[in-house]
This record gives sequence, structure tokens and C-alpha cells, in this order.
Amino acid sequence: MKKILVTGGCGFIGSHLCEKLISEENKVICLDNLYTGSVKKIEHLLNNENFTFIQEDITNNIDIECDQIYNLACPASPVHYQADRIKTTITSVIGIINLLDNAVKYDADILQASTSEVYGDPIIHPQTEEYFGNVNPIGIRSCYDEGKRCAESLMFSYKAQYNAKIHIARIFNTYGTNMSINDGRVISNFIVQALRNEPLTVYGSGNQTRSFCYIDDLINGLVTLMNSDKAGPYNIGNPDEYRVIDIAKLIIKLTNSNSKIIYKELPQDDPLKRKPDITKAMNDLSYNPSCKLESGLINTINYFREIIK
Ligand code: UDP
Repeated sequence: MKKILVTGGCGFIGSHLCEKLISEENKVICLDNLYTGSVKKIEHLLNNENFTFIQEDITNNIDIECDQIYNLACPASPVHYQADRIKTTITSVIGIINLLDNAVKYDADILQASTSEVYGDPIIHPQTEEYFGNVNPIGIRSCYDEGKRCAESLMFSYKAQYNAKIHIARIFNTYGTNMSINDGRVISNFIVQALRNEPLTVYGSGNQTRSFCYIDDLINGLVTLMNSDKAGPYNIGNPDEYRVIDIAKLIIKLTNSNSKIIYKELPQDDPLKRKPDITKAMNDLSYNPSCKLESGLINTINYFREIIK
């Protein structure tokens, strides 16, 4: 039985990870400051004797004995991470320093939830891990992008100087159950709008692309990476690429909605395209995302139907 710290455990991805780790008979300490996360997502685990919830911020000193640390603590939706840009960068940078110190102290493995945003608005397509990216260092996304890039840098510095057992996952757009109604990201926005028969808000022309990974595939990738001896970074996502406008149309169809599509201004530095090259994860980790968009969307729609009743 391993003792595993999950920071950001009350978030969308963190709550699924806690669930999976508990089902595999581990002891889980879920730490979250509840800035965007919610205890509701892990409520069903609170009575489990192997599960502990601590309300805490990773920018405060952390001293928790454990075998593994998954760091998922950071607002990840553009709307939320731009709400307090200074706090977002501090969370990524000071947070990972605290967690790396804790990992070194207890000789724990540490996995950093990095992001496709390290590639910025990419010129290389699809994105391989070797690509250094095209990030605007002073744009509205930079608080998140540069914070995550600095966290990756710190992971490798701790590996070089303290032999830290690091693992870096670059997470691409992910969706599924446990997303919040007010998450603000495209799939949850469109589903909630469609279920309420409100207009779907497409930003820009809708020709920009993203590649969407269902949560179960992502969780499998993270757990496999953590339990490997690989540092990475690894792209973890699903390479099936769609235009935003086509996602809107598909969600209207799958929800049987009367919603129309309206167009809004494209936010600054919104990447034109994004698609992971997952060859490295497939070769090294046997990573193979299998959930097709339509079936993942149906699960997610059913989940939102229940919570917006
Ligand atoms: N988007 C949109 N309508 C929305 C929310 C997002 O058209 O209500 C677009 C957004 O401009 C971006 C894509 O969908 O091009 C994905 O946005 P999201 O916020 O999900 O995450 P990102 O991949 O940009 O970090």
C-alpha cells in the first residue's frame, strides 16, 4: 500500500485520480485550497479510512510523508487562471518548489501536471516534446504558460542537484465527468449551454482546433507515468483533432438542443491549433487513449444533465 499525496485533489482531474488511487488500495491524502476545486467532487471518499482531505495551499510550507506526489494544484481553465494572474504564477512556481522539497525529504516520486500550454501558439504541428514552443511571455496566458514552464525547469533542476524522482506530463485538453458547470472551458461551456437551450458561444471563427482526451484515458496515462522510471516530459492527450465550430455542432446534435451558435471575440493569444504527437508516450509507456470523442461526450452530457437539473 502506497501513501500518495494528490494536490489539487478536489479539481476535475484530481478527483478522478483520488478515486482511481483509492480503488487500487492506496492511502490517499488529498490536498486542495478549494480555490476552484470543490469538496463535492470527493465527498463520497471522505468516509473511506484510506482517504484524508486537507484544506491547504501548496504555496504554504508542506511537510507530508509520502511515497508519491501528484501535483495538480493550479487553476487550469483560462477564465480561472486569468482571474488572478499573479496568484497563478506563484502557485505554479512556489508550489512546485515546496512539493519538490517535500519529495526530496521523503524520497518520494513526484509527477508534475504540466500542460500543452508550454507550446504556446505552436508553429510545429502536431507538437512533439522536442518542440520548445511559441509562448508570448507578456500575454494574458503567460501567467499560466510561463509558470508551468518554470515548474518544468525546477523539476529538472531538482533532478540534477538532488536526484529528485521526477515525472512530467504535458496534459492536453481533457474533458469528462466532474467538470464544474462554471469551468469555462469549451466542452463544458457548450454542453451546459446546449442543455439549457442557450446559444453556444464560439470564440473567433471557430476554425481553431483542439484535440480532446477523455478523462479516463488521461488518468491511465498519469498513473502509468508515475509508476515508471521515466522523467519525460510526455505529451498525454488524444491526438484526434477537431475545429471548435464542429464541436459546437456535434454537441447540439448529441443533446438534441434547440440552441443556436453565436460568435464572440477571440481572446488574445488563443492558440490557432493544438494536437499532441503521442509517439513517445506510446513507445515508452504503452499509452494508448481509446475513448472516441462521441462516446466521451455522451458520458459527459449525461453527467451535466444530472447536475444542472
Ligand atoms: N472556446 C469557445 N467558446 C467557449 C470556450 C472556449 O469557442 O465558450 C474556444 C477557445 O477560444 C479556444 C478553444 O475553444 O480556442 C478551447 O478553449 P478552452 O478554454 O477549452 O481551453 P484552451 O485550449 O484554450 O486552453
